[in-house]
Amino acid sequence: MESRRAMMILDDTSLADREGGFEIVRRVGRRHISHAFHDIDGTHSLIRDWPPVMSALTAWVIANGLPESYDSEENAADIAGRVESLRAEETDRFAIESAGLAALTQMEWAIRRALQDGTLSLAERPLEDEEKTANAEVIQRIWEGRERFDDLPESPRVRDLLSAHTPRLFHLYELVLAKASRDANLSAARKDPAAWRVPGSLEFLRRLHAAGVRNYFVTGSVMSTAQRPEGMLEEVIALGFEVGPGKVIESAHGSDWDRKMPKEEVMRGLLADLSVSGEHALVVGDGRSEVQAGAAMGAVVLSRLDPEAWRLRELHRELGTNYIVRDYREPALARLLQPEQA
Ligand SMILES: [Mg+2]
Repeated sequence: MESRRAMMILDDTSLADREGGFEIVRRVGRRHISHAFHDIDGTHSLIRDWPPVMSALTAWVIANGLPESYDSEENAADIAGRVESLRAEETDRFAIESAGLAALTQMEWAIRRALQDGTLSLAERPLEDEEKTANAEVIQRIWEGRERFDDLPESPRVRDLLSAHTPRLFHLYELVLAKASRDANLSAARKDPAAWRVPGSLEFLRRLHAAGVRNYFVTGSVMSTAQRPEGMLEEVIALGFEVGPGKVIESAHGSDWDRKMPKEEVMRGLLADLSVSGEHALVVGDGRSEVQAGAAMGAVVLSRLDPEAWRLRELHRELGTNYIVRDYREPALARLLQPEQA
C-alpha cells in the first residue's frame, strides 16, 4: 500500500551531468518523493568537527588499551588537548571510511584493534586463535561499513568485555569531542545558527516540507528525546530545526548510549511503519552508511560533500549515490526537486 500524500517530483531528465556544485552520478529519471531521511552531522550541521577527535581517541585506545579510569574527566581533557599529536594514519583513514556508522560501532572497532595488538588483554589468558580470527573478521567488516556480526562465533568473554566497555568508551568520546570543539561550536551556533548550518539547509528542508514531504533526521549519535535535550538534539535545536509531528522535521532518530541502531535498520523500520516503498524515499547524507542503506532500499540518494572530500566522493560513487551536491543553494537542486502541481 502506497501513501498518496502530496509529493515532490524528482526529475533529472533535463539536467546536465554537472552544473556548478551539483553532479549526477547515476540518473534516476522521474520519481514521486513522499519521505526524506536526512543525516544531521556534516549533512545539515557543521557543529561537530568529529573526524580528528575520532582519529585521536581510537589511536589512543589502540596504543594504550583501556587502563583504569580511562573514561575520567581528566583523561578526556588530556586527550582533547592532544588531538593533533595523537592522530595516526590508520585512524585518520578509519574516521573517513567509517563516517556514518553508529558511534558505538566505531568504539567497538577501537577496542577490537587494541585486543588484536595486545595493548588490551583479557584478564585470565590471552586471546585464543579462534577468538583472534573472529575479532579480525569483525575489524574487517567494520572497515567495509557493516555493523552486525551476530553470525560470527564470539566467545562470551570477548562479548562481555565489549558490552562493558563500548558504552563507556562512547561516553569518553563524547566528552573529548565536547571539550575539543563541540561545546564551543554549540555556543557559537546559538548566537549565529546560520553560520553552523550547511548553506541552504533549512530552506531546502522547508521546501520539501511545504511540498508535502515528511522529513526525518536519522543519526548514528545519541538522540535523546528526554525532557532535557542533550547531545545531538541540543545541536538540532540550536540550529533552528523544528522537530515534531507536522513540523519541518517530523521526528528524529538515533542510537542509545548502549544500543546501536544502524541507519539502515532505522530507515527500513520507518518505511515499514509508514507503508512506504523505498522508491518514494530520498536519503540525504555525507556518510557511507546512509548511502549504502539508501541504495539498498531502492531510494534516491543525494550526497552532501565538500569539493575537497575526494575520498568520500569516490566512496559515495562506489556505494551507489545518485547525486552529489556541495550545498543546498545549487540552482540545479531546485530544478531536480519540484513540488507536485496541485
Ligand atoms: Mg554525517
